[in-house]
Amino acid sequence: MGKMFFTAGPSQLYPTVKQYISTALENDIPSLSHRSAAFEEIYAAAENGIRQLLNVPADYCLVFLSSATEAMERMLQNCVEQDSYHLVNGAFSQRFFTIARELGKTPAKLEAPWGSGFDLGQLPNNSSPELIAVTHNETSTGVSIPMEQIYRLHRQFPASLMVVDIVSSAPYVDLDYNQVDAAFFSVQKGFGLPAGLGVLLFNQRCLDKALKRQDSGKSIGSYHSLPALLEKAAKNQNPETPNVVGIYLLCKVCADMLEKGIEQIRLETEQKAGLLYSAVEQHSQLRPFVTDSKIQSQTVIVADIERDSKPVIDELATHGFIVGSGYGKLKKSQIRIANFPAHDPASVEELTKHLLNI
Ligand SMILES: *Cc1c(COP(=O)(O)O)cnc(C)c1O
Repeated sequence: MGKMFFTAGPSQLYPTVKQYISTALENDIPSLSHRSAAFEEIYAAAENGIRQLLNVPADYCLVFLSSATEAMERMLQNCVEQDSYHLVNGAFSQRFFTIARELGKTPAKLEAPWGSGFDLGQLPNNSSPELIAVTHNETSTGVSIPMEQIYRLHRQFPASLMVVDIVSSAPYVDLDYNQVDAAFFSVQKGFGLPAGLGVLLFNQRCLDKALKRQDSGKSIGSYHSLPALLEKAAKNQNPETPNVVGIYLLCKVCADMLEKGIEQIRLETEQKAGLLYSAVEQHSQLRPFVTDSKIQSQTVIVADIERDSKPVIDELATHGFIVGSGYGKLKKSQIRIANFPAHDPASVEELTKHLLNI
């Protein structure tokens, strides 16, 4: 029996990916020089695909990294002298904060309990942090911060660089890049690809800050500093040998998603999320962890479970449906179900049927 991975990342591969992996092997993509014209073409096609699919403004920069975690580190390393400010309500937003500490910065944070959003009235109005880090979709808890709240925060602190983690909401999220300064994701979540590739999008303000720090003798890293990345990106290359196969697969999947249409992907995502939340609500032993429907994630559905999560996860697995446990300390008391473009509506419906039979 075929399996379908509803885990939050790595997750189910986008349906065409297995075929593209064979095509990549047949065409010797793994042996392609990362300085060749053939690779530059693939790089350019991947970049254009992302720009079109996500509606990224032309004046935004796009670079390829190894992961989303790397994007957190690069943004802090390049753009923060001392103080970043973090909205922390789960494991990934906490990771962003911790990296700032580990880099010797002095980050501050506004914390909300896991499963909750933020009361932004609590923010100190007198300070203007260099960078504000927001995790749009906390994959550990299934909380999604409304974009309007993020834009409002940016208007409240116009001097701060607003950096948004869209790892588990892209490509579903409809982000207005003109109302933030940077965003990043990795490809093993919503893009349904093998892990090992991150994408960082940033505007001129971020680059100016990095250059200013560099000019004043500060370290902004080495081969993956923003200026070093951009110098090679101008030639459709990376400073190092990048994940060539990953970039190839991303280019192919973006083309497929463009053909399907981002509006259709968004519509289906919301319909599938509706099915999943309603199954969780109907189930006698489950209830949504995030109770405020305005902040319930459409792409990662988290349910509290009365008993241990393991028997439910095991039972679904016997039908080929692999769902996630809770994250970290919530491992035993929750299940997490990803809802990405790779999850077709019919499979989601079948999953909810099996879930309701337990
Ligand atoms: C998975 C995830 C990350 C980390 O991604 P990597 O590619 O493993 O570095 C960061 N933020 C969020 C919200 C995530 O879901």
